[in-house]
Amino acid sequence: MDEGIREKISEIWPYFTVADATAWDTDPFVSSLIPSSQRPKSILPSAKSVIVVRTPVSPTILHTAPSIFYKEHYKTLNIQLDLIAQQIATLLDAEGFDAVPVARDGYQGIRGLKEDSSSFFSHRHAAYLSGLGTFGLNNTLLTKTHGPRVRLTSIITSAELKPGTPLKEDICIKCGKCVSSCPANALNGDMYPGGLDKMSCVGRTEKLAERGITPCGICIAVCPIGKRVIPPSEEFVKSVQKYELRN
Ligand code: SF4
Ligand code: SF4
Repeated sequence: MDEGIREKISEIWPYFTVADATAWDTDPFVSSLIPSSQRPKSILPSAKSVIVVRTPVSPTILHTAPSIFYKEHYKTLNIQLDLIAQQIATLLDAEGFDAVPVARDGYQGIRGLKEDSSSFFSHRHAAYLSGLGTFGLNNTLLTKTHGPRVRLTSIITSAELKPGTPLKEDICIKCGKCVSSCPANALNGDMYPGGLDKMSCVGRTEKLAERGITPCGICIAVCPIGKRVIPPSEEFVKSVQKYELRN
């Protein structure tokens, strides 16, 4: 059964990993961070698995961040993920399983972020539990192939799929590039979950939003882990960065 469902999911989107829905209660690291209200079984009591879908962020576009180019790319990736999650949930439903596609961002704009910067469901922790990656000094999930340059979403389901397990070795090499590059001094060099001053990061996001060029993206652009590309010319980057909201 597992293989049949996996194959059908792969036909929709092959880039996914699976976490055991009970891992939120049994993994000491995740259970110490994620409240019970934000665990899969609180959302879907019949949950057995969480399917974590990923899509890569273009490193070329990220070289222009913060920019309108990256902002649009980010929006497109989010829409892409939502559509894939919905398609997978539809398939699981047709196969007789319960399935909930979780929206990839559970925030209410900048004001919501300032009041409570935690999401109602953390895809990063689902990805960690599925064995996709580990947390870096930049507070994001790092994968071996793309470093922190992936967007994620999750589908919680009653289907029982063979899960992955958290990686034993940290992927982050603690080079400190993210820490020294952060324009808001929001990273202090401590390992996750202690290393980010969320309010400083949100403060910068707020300023960029006023200029129409969120998200920031710098701490994921500079990370040396994963696939790198030859950057676009400085001339091009400067020309892109000229475009922002002017009221
Ligand atoms: S997103 Fe920007 S402001 Fe926030 S931690 Fe990363 S580099 Fe700093
Ligand atoms: S830039 Fe360096 S320290 Fe920061 S997350 Fe990447 S590998 Fe870790």
